[in-house]
Amino acid sequence: MKKKNDMWTPLTLTQKLLSLDTVNPPGNEAAAAKLIARILEAGGFEVSLLPVAPGRPNLIATLPGQGEKLPLCFSGHLDTVPFDKTRWSHDPLGGVVEYGKVFGRGASDMKSGVAAMVMAILRLASLPERSSEIRLILSADQETGDTGASHLVKQHKIMGRAGVLILGEPTANYPMIGNKGMLWMKAYTRGVSAHASAPEKGENAIYKAARAIVRLEDFDFDVTHPLMGSSTISVTTIESGTVLNMVPDWATIGIDVRTVYGQANNVVFGQLQNYLGSDVELRCIADAPSVLTDSENPWVQEIYDVMAPILGERPVPRCISYFTDASVLMEALGDPPVVFLGPGEPAMAHRTDEFCYVSKIEEATEAYFEVGRRWLTK
Ligand SMILES: [Zn+2]
Repeated sequence: MKKKNDMWTPLTLTQKLLSLDTVNPPGNEAAAAKLIARILEAGGFEVSLLPVAPGRPNLIATLPGQGEKLPLCFSGHLDTVPFDKTRWSHDPLGGVVEYGKVFGRGASDMKSGVAAMVMAILRLASLPERSSEIRLILSADQETGDTGASHLVKQHKIMGRAGVLILGEPTANYPMIGNKGMLWMKAYTRGVSAHASAPEKGENAIYKAARAIVRLEDFDFDVTHPLMGSSTISVTTIESGTVLNMVPDWATIGIDVRTVYGQANNVVFGQLQNYLGSDVELRCIADAPSVLTDSENPWVQEIYDVMAPILGERPVPRCISYFTDASVLMEALGDPPVVFLGPGEPAMAHRTDEFCYVSKIEEATEAYFEVGRRWLTK
């Protein structure tokens, strides 16, 4: 009789996950989480599904080891960003393979990474002796601001320390040692409504917002980091007005800031509130600090050793610019060294006709296994 998990390869599992729609919003990560739970339970793992909201579970899978060493931890997310099916040349839920690429929403960000991690830890589970626990954390609702992982850390408080953390976000298998921070804010301006035929009787909140926007365009943090580059600021949304013939008494601007290591988000928030002055009320919507691991850390060097033959060159210290769950998981896991390493193409994330190279999914699976094997057998 065939063993239960024999039907899965890194590619077939990627394709199956692509067929399970986890577009966020609304997310619906339950089917994907349950599938992975069944596969890992058959491989000996203990799996918990911890709901963030109805139909939206985070997944934690663990397999104890024999030694005292801190756990080997992998992490990823199950949700994807939305897609406009009419603009895709392949079905975004189809997992079609063509010319060595698998297509679908989440092919790069990051169902391929999740599949590679699951297949790698199943193999690690069959090692005769393992000096530490193996743990996999898969979050729901990551794309809207690490909501699922935040929920896991704050509500469930079940996270023990980890020895090391590998995040499978898309890096084209290049090991990255940090990610930028993120600060999402809304800026509110208030005014006094009036009939638009007598604007002098009112106070126009849109004019105040417009002045704030122009000032934000000129704002310069004047901070750069050798690996992360510059911090950035963008005005990304604007809402105001009720009807065409009324002076608006409210306006709201959305602001996206990406911070670099060494820049505290709460300091940045204060800096911007000061800069915009009392006409504008700033509120924080979501906040994730930047993350950086020392490239001289022996475990990072070991990952460079493993990846050098796969990449054809020895990796050098680099960071990713997008935020990840690492920002919220790090503290709960006791600040372990973290490396971002995933088969997806960073340039394909959130794009129409998103794909991942099949060869990179296989290479990532081998890399996760080898990095894990070295951790577990020492
Ligand atoms: Zn992602």
